[in-house]
Amino acid sequence: MKVTLLGSGEALGVPAPLCDCTYCETSQQRRRPGLAVETDHATVVLDVSPDVKEQLNATNTTDVDAFFVTHHHFDHAGGLHELNHAAMAFDEHMLNPDEFTADERPHEASFAVHLSPTACLHLSYSNSHLANRLDLELLSHGQAVQVGDLRVVPFPVDHAHPMFDTLGFAVYHDETKVVYAPDMGTFLPEREGGREYENADLLFAEGAALFRAEGHGSKADLRAALESANAEQTVLLNLSEHLQRMSTDEMRVVATNSGYELGQDFETYHV
Ligand SMILES: [Zn+2]
Ligand SMILES: [Zn+2]
Repeated sequence: MKVTLLGSGEALGVPAPLCDCTYCETSQQRRRPGLAVETDHATVVLDVSPDVKEQLNATNTTDVDAFFVTHHHFDHAGGLHELNHAAMAFDEHMLNPDEFTADERPHEASFAVHLSPTACLHLSYSNSHLANRLDLELLSHGQAVQVGDLRVVPFPVDHAHPMFDTLGFAVYHDETKVVYAPDMGTFLPEREGGREYENADLLFAEGAALFRAEGHGSKADLRAALESANAEQTVLLNLSEHLQRMSTDEMRVVATNSGYELGQDFETYHV
C-alpha cells in the first residue's frame, strides 16, 4: 500500500484564517485532515476536507474509487462541495460534450462516498443538494467495505459521543493494516467493531492533547489510548502550531519523546 498524508492539521489549518502570529508565519502549511491509500488496483481517500481539491491536485490523484468520511464536521466533510462539482463534470452546464476531442474531455469521476447514518442525516438537513447528487453509502461499525483489493472497516471512537457518531477506519491489504483516527478523545474497544484500531502496521491518530493545549480529551486518556493501539509506527495528526503556541521543532521533540512521529502534509509511506 502507498499511503499519503493529505492533511495533518486541525479545524483551522495552519496558517489559521486571518492570523499573522509568529507560529502561523514560520510554520509549514497544515491542511485539514485526510489520507489517501492506494494499491495498483484501488484508491480510497479518508475524509473530505475543505482543502480536498488542492490535496488531490497536489498529489496527482484523479482516480478515487471511494471516499470515507469520519464525521460531519466542516474540517472532515466540507470538501463534499468540491466532490459535488467533480461529479457534475458532464452535466448540463457543459455544452456539446460529444464534440470534444479526447484531450479536451474532462475526467468522468465515478466514486462513492461512505459515511455514518448520523453524518448522512446532517448532510441531508444542511445540504440536501449534496445528499441528492452524491452516491452516498451508509457505514456500520465493524462492517467491512471492499474496494478493489482494499478492505475498509469503520470503527467507533469517542469524539463528543454520544451526540453523534464519529468513526475511525482500518484499511487492510492482505495482512497489512493502516488505521486512521484523526479526531478522538479515546478509542472505544468495548463497542461493536471498536477494537479495529489495534495492532496496525501504521497508525494515524489524533495527537493534540499530547502538547500544550487540550485536545478532544485529556492527555492521560490519549496517552493510554495510543499505548493500547500497539501500532508498529504512529503518526500524530490534528496538529497546530497556532493553537499550541509551539514551534514545529518543539512539537516534534514532544512527539519523538513519546515514541511517535509528527505528521507532515504530503508525506508518503509504503507498507
Ligand atoms: Zn496564528
Ligand atoms: Zn470533529
